[in-house]
Amino acid sequence: MKRIVLASGNPDKLRELRYLLRDLQVEIIPVRDLIPDWSIEETGITLEENAFIKARDVAEKTHLPAIADDTGLFVDVLGGAPGIYAARFAGIDCSYENNIDKLLRTMLCEENRRAAFRTAAVLVSPEMELSVTGEITGVIIEEPDGEEGFGYDPVFLPDDLDQTFARCSTEEKHRISHRALAMRKLREKFLSSGIL
Ligand code: IMP
Repeated sequence: MKRIVLASGNPDKLRELRYLLRDLQVEIIPVRDLIPDWSIEETGITLEENAFIKARDVAEKTHLPAIADDTGLFVDVLGGAPGIYAARFAGIDCSYENNIDKLLRTMLCEENRRAAFRTAAVLVSPEMELSVTGEITGVIIEEPDGEEGFGYDPVFLPDDLDQTFARCSTEEKHRISHRALAMRKLREKFLSSGIL
């Protein structure tokens, strides 16, 4: 079976990507199984740049194809913040809860609660580089609701659902999620590229 390394130390992302690519004949290996102390500074100014920074580094170091996903939460009334800085909105090494607390405090009394999750997903192999995007729009609700998913899921109510991502099963979330849209496109490109 073909092996692809995931350029991320985030176990939630690993779980979701394994689910989304489950029908491909690939084994997705987290980078820290191969390079235990792997980390990298995300110095790009777009999601795609950051995804390529991660995947190129891992492909170069492991000599295997590498996949990376960079996701941001873009809130209209905050001028697109936290955007590409979604992981560190409340500070370096903050928790998901810290980020949600800061977001809700920042948006207190705001009536315009429109937001979007955007994902850039890339694959880097010696033969080629592939890049795709996925987006979903919705609103930021006023109190966290639900235990599933990760990150900002408890406060994100997608336009096409009547519950937050954190109240959805994995299957429900990925019927419409930003990451699922990106992965569907990446999957099509994989299949037509002959990499698999
Ligand atoms: P990154 O792609 O690892 O930089 O992710 C940035 C941050 O966005 C994560 O730390 C999470 O807080 C958040 N995030 C990424 N994907 C999702 C998602 O599917 N749902 C909710 N939050 C997410």
